[in-house]
Amino acid sequence: MYGLLCRNSRKRGEIISYTKKRKRQLRLWVEGKSIHLGKLPDGTCCPDFSCCEPELQSPKEERELFQELYLANKHNEYERMLMMFLGRDLPLMTDKKVYIAGGKP
Ligand SMILES: [Zn+2]
Repeated sequence: MYGLLCRNSRKRGEIISYTKKRKRQLRLWVEGKSIHLGKLPDGTCCPDFSCCEPELQSPKEERELFQELYLANKHNEYERMLMMFLGRDLPLMTDKKVYIAGGKP
Protein backbone atom coordinates (compact mmCIF):
# COMPACT_ATOMS: atom_id res chain seq x y z
CA MET A 1 0.00 0.00 0.00
CA TYR A 2 2.68 2.48 0.95
CA GLY A 3 5.72 2.56 -1.20
CA LEU A 4 5.54 -1.11 -1.97
CA LEU A 5 8.16 -1.78 -4.56
CA CYS A 6 8.95 -5.04 -6.20
CA ARG A 7 12.70 -5.32 -6.21
CA ASN A 8 12.65 -7.76 -9.09
CA SER A 9 10.59 -5.78 -11.53
CA ARG A 10 11.90 -2.28 -10.95
CA LYS A 11 15.16 -0.73 -11.83
CA ARG A 12 17.09 0.90 -9.08
CA GLY A 13 16.72 4.31 -10.72
CA GLU A 14 12.96 4.06 -10.49
CA ILE A 15 13.17 3.29 -6.82
CA ILE A 16 15.33 6.33 -6.24
CA SER A 17 13.00 8.63 -8.15
CA TYR A 18 10.05 7.18 -6.25
CA THR A 19 11.75 7.93 -2.93
CA LYS A 20 12.43 11.46 -4.11
CA LYS A 21 8.79 11.95 -5.06
CA ARG A 22 7.64 10.47 -1.79
CA LYS A 23 9.87 12.85 0.15
CA ARG A 24 8.52 15.78 -1.84
CA GLN A 25 4.97 14.59 -1.20
CA LEU A 26 5.69 14.41 2.53
CA ARG A 27 7.25 17.87 2.55
CA LEU A 28 4.20 19.41 0.88
CA TRP A 29 1.92 17.39 3.11
CA VAL A 30 3.61 18.81 6.22
CA GLU A 31 3.02 22.27 4.72
CA GLY A 32 -0.65 21.45 4.38
CA LYS A 33 -0.78 20.57 0.69
CA SER A 34 -1.96 17.00 0.32
CA ILE A 35 -1.03 15.66 -3.08
CA HIS A 36 -1.75 12.15 -4.26
CA LEU A 37 1.35 10.53 -5.70
CA GLY A 38 0.75 8.89 -9.05
CA LYS A 39 -2.52 8.28 -10.85
CA LEU A 40 -5.70 7.15 -9.18
CA PRO A 41 -6.80 4.49 -8.40
CA ASP A 42 -3.13 3.49 -8.09
CA GLY A 43 -0.39 5.57 -6.66
CA THR A 44 0.33 6.48 -3.09
CA CYS A 45 -1.80 8.48 -0.70
CA CYS A 46 -0.46 10.85 1.87
CA PRO A 47 0.06 8.92 5.12
CA ASP A 48 -3.23 10.20 6.54
CA PHE A 49 -5.13 9.83 3.21
CA SER A 50 -5.93 13.54 3.27
CA CYS A 51 -5.27 13.87 -0.47
CA CYS A 52 -8.31 11.69 -1.12
CA GLU A 53 -10.25 12.34 2.11
CA PRO A 54 -9.54 15.93 3.20
CA GLU A 55 -11.51 15.47 6.43
CA LEU A 56 -8.89 12.97 7.59
CA GLN A 57 -6.08 15.48 7.65
CA SER A 58 -4.02 14.98 10.77
CA PRO A 59 -2.66 17.78 12.99
CA LYS A 60 0.56 19.44 11.89
CA GLU A 61 2.57 18.03 14.82
CA GLU A 62 1.73 14.50 13.68
CA ARG A 63 2.65 15.28 10.10
CA GLU A 64 5.98 16.72 11.19
CA LEU A 65 6.68 13.74 13.40
CA PHE A 66 5.89 11.33 10.59
CA GLN A 67 8.19 13.13 8.19
CA GLU A 68 10.94 13.11 10.78
CA LEU A 69 10.60 9.37 11.31
CA TYR A 70 10.44 8.72 7.59
CA LEU A 71 13.56 10.72 6.84
CA ALA A 72 15.37 9.05 9.72
CA ASN A 73 14.39 5.65 8.29
CA LYS A 74 12.68 4.72 11.54
CA HIS A 75 10.61 2.17 9.76
CA ASN A 76 8.82 0.59 12.71
CA GLU A 77 7.85 3.92 14.18
CA TYR A 78 6.41 5.40 11.04
CA GLU A 79 4.65 2.14 10.20
CA ARG A 80 2.97 2.43 13.58
CA MET A 81 1.82 5.94 12.70
CA LEU A 82 0.48 4.68 9.39
CA MET A 83 -1.57 2.11 11.27
CA MET A 84 -2.90 4.87 13.49
CA PHE A 85 -3.94 6.93 10.46
CA LEU A 86 -5.49 3.85 8.92
CA GLY A 87 -7.38 3.19 12.14
CA ARG A 88 -8.97 6.62 11.85
CA ASP A 89 -9.89 6.00 8.27
CA LEU A 90 -11.65 2.71 8.95
CA PRO A 91 -14.78 4.01 10.69
CA LEU A 92 -15.26 6.37 7.77
CA MET A 93 -15.02 3.58 5.24
CA THR A 94 -17.39 1.45 7.27
CA ASP A 95 -19.96 4.25 7.17
CA LYS A 96 -19.78 4.34 3.43
CA LYS A 97 -20.06 0.61 2.93
CA VAL A 98 -23.19 -0.71 4.53
CA TYR A 99 -22.44 -4.35 3.88
CA ILE A 100 -18.84 -5.35 4.25
CA ALA A 101 -18.84 -9.08 3.76
CA GLY A 102 -21.53 -11.70 4.09
CA GLY A 103 -23.94 -9.07 5.36
CA LYS A 104 -27.62 -9.83 5.67
CA PRO A 105 -29.81 -8.25 3.00
ZN1 LIG B 1 -4.74 9.82 -2.17
